[in-house]
Amino acid sequence: MTFFPQRSEEITGAASEISPIVGDRVELQLLTTLTCNLKCTYCSLGVGDMVGSQGKVSYTIDVLDAFIKKHLASHEVYVTFYGGEPTLNLDFIKEVMERYPTFRFQLQTNGTLLDGLPDSVLANLSNILLSIDGGEEITDGFRGRGVYRQVVKNTQAVRDRMKGSFTARVTWSSESTSFEELDELADTFDYVYFQFVAGEGTYTPAAMEKKKAVITQLVDKFFSSKELYPIIPIMGVVRNKVLPTRATELYHGKTQCRVSTHILNVMPDGKIYPCPDMMYVPEMLQGNLIENWLKPSPLQPHPNMPCDTCEAQPWCRGNCLKNLYLAYVKNDSNYRTKVVEPICELVRFLGREIDRHNPQAWYAKAPLDVRKTLRDCEVYEYVEIMP
Ligand code: SF4
Ligand code: SF4
Repeated sequence: MTFFPQRSEEITGAASEISPIVGDRVELQLLTTLTCNLKCTYCSLGVGDMVGSQGKVSYTIDVLDAFIKKHLASHEVYVTFYGGEPTLNLDFIKEVMERYPTFRFQLQTNGTLLDGLPDSVLANLSNILLSIDGGEEITDGFRGRGVYRQVVKNTQAVRDRMKGSFTARVTWSSESTSFEELDELADTFDYVYFQFVAGEGTYTPAAMEKKKAVITQLVDKFFSSKELYPIIPIMGVVRNKVLPTRATELYHGKTQCRVSTHILNVMPDGKIYPCPDMMYVPEMLQGNLIENWLKPSPLQPHPNMPCDTCEAQPWCRGNCLKNLYLAYVKNDSNYRTKVVEPICELVRFLGREIDRHNPQAWYAKAPLDVRKTLRDCEVYEYVEIMP
């Protein structure tokens, strides 16, 4: 991985301070609550007992405003409402939307309360990320009976009131997750994003083979479809292979999930961390909204990480940095061998499957609208891109 010094071209306001944010955009991920109405078995907030530990936001909108004025005034800000289940604190969502009418907004939700959102909120969302685990059986197994149908029903119920996109966010955990399930999600939602679960018992040899077989089918369908097959990790890797500068431009050569450059996870109590899965780690504290301070992200590429010598480096670029940090900086060898190495193997496999289809030749022949979406899809700004 290439190591860039932590710096910014942005000079903020009269104080002429160097901004801790790298680049011109910043994603403000506001956790409206850590409470949730579901009990998903693998919830990342379960680590460090975060889930349920903070109810509503404990800072005022004026405190948020003072922070934005001091640290983000020279950036394009887009907000993701996150949780817990963010819609449990709808008043806060409405308040932020009213205060910042020029911002872009995204909602990350389990989808169970979506049909209760008012038109004013739905109409203002550029993207809704819906957490789902695959098909009905697998989703209900992790999330509770009836959740899959409820999410699909709610999505259809609000579709006409929501002009932005719907992206299914799949935590790919089960070895039974099939091509057909993911394919159906691609039919039901505008985009599908999947991420390999960080579970130590997940990547048995048999499970790896099953995941690879599904990846092969997804990639085959991507390159044989007349229209763009809207699976974000495949789109993103193809984009990065065909247009390598797109893999770096928003991230200044660092990780594409934004944690080293331009995402701020603000907990309900105002503490700020780069990665939402590491809010229990004291050394990851990056700022405090109530105390109104912010420093550069502490989650950075490290010489111990193996990306520099990896074939996937030009297009993967070190996603996910949390995994790499735990495996190669904290030296958790169990996590490295049982989670990180298998996931990196799957990422490299995905890249090779894409190469089999000659993505440059495919792009050269693709219709203009397909090329444009592949190149500019806004959802790349909201998710990690790599699985
Ligand atoms: S596959 Fe793993 S080792 Fe390779 S670039 Fe990606 S994160 Fe780094
Ligand atoms: S991909 Fe990025 S944001 Fe997601 S868990 Fe990993 S480091 Fe955190």
